[in-house]
Amino acid sequence: MSIILNETKQAKYIMETGEVGNKPASTLFLLGKYYRQKEQLDKEQTANKLNEFMETNYKNYNPALWEQTIEDISKKAKEYPLRELDAVGITQSELDVISELHHMKYEKLLFTMLCYAKLYNVLSEHNNDWVNTGIQELYRTAKVTVKYRKDKFLYLNDLEKKGLISFSNQNDNLNLKINFLDMDGESVLEITDFRELGYEYLNYIGEGKFIHCKYCKRLVKKTNNKCLYCSDCAKRIQNRQKYEWDAKNRKSEK
Ligand SMILES: [Zn+2]
Repeated sequence: MSIILNETKQAKYIMETGEVGNKPASTLFLLGKYYRQKEQLDKEQTANKLNEFMETNYKNYNPALWEQTIEDISKKAKEYPLRELDAVGITQSELDVISELHHMKYEKLLFTMLCYAKLYNVLSEHNNDWVNTGIQELYRTAKVTVKYRKDKFLYLNDLEKKGLISFSNQNDNLNLKINFLDMDGESVLEITDFRELGYEYLNYIGEGKFIHCKYCKRLVKKTNNKCLYCSDCAKRIQNRQKYEWDAKNRKSEK
């Protein structure tokens, strides 16, 4: 699950749409935080709400299998504050450094790392420009593909050689730090969604055509004029239509 800037808004969206997503436990945790912190429900009330949510929205829900998870979530959800951030701002000086790379893969990757570093700086004053995000996640949200796995490190090495990022190896985890952050400048680009950072960059510089999915607002490459939804939502809508179609047919057969 990509990082969510405004968890309160996301919780409301989930309740409205009944969207369980592909990581139900993360979804339940988010809702749990909302019930405990915004609606001031206690442990039991929260567990009931989560159970109800799953019963309504999760296919083949088996309460016994989820009982322990829901109980744990309802207990812990009060300790983890809901994140309520509307946007991370990017400045012109930062965009200038990136565009000087003159190579789209590097630009998208560096932009993505920049967004994460700025996000964590906003969330914690002790972050000091660290990216705090796994390499797989960076490449995925940057929409950068490589031929060989080792190329992922080569790209990062190149950026380090240019002095744009620094590395630190702690407990076998590769940590990345951005060296050109501008926390005081005026922002010229507001990032409100961390799901498709590579596309956010392309969209901003005017490379390619993009739309926001009509349903979940994800940024999507516009491949034709009929394109309205992201692939996940398109699939879901198709499944639902098929389900309703089948149900109608079953009724008329009776
Ligand atoms: Zn969508």
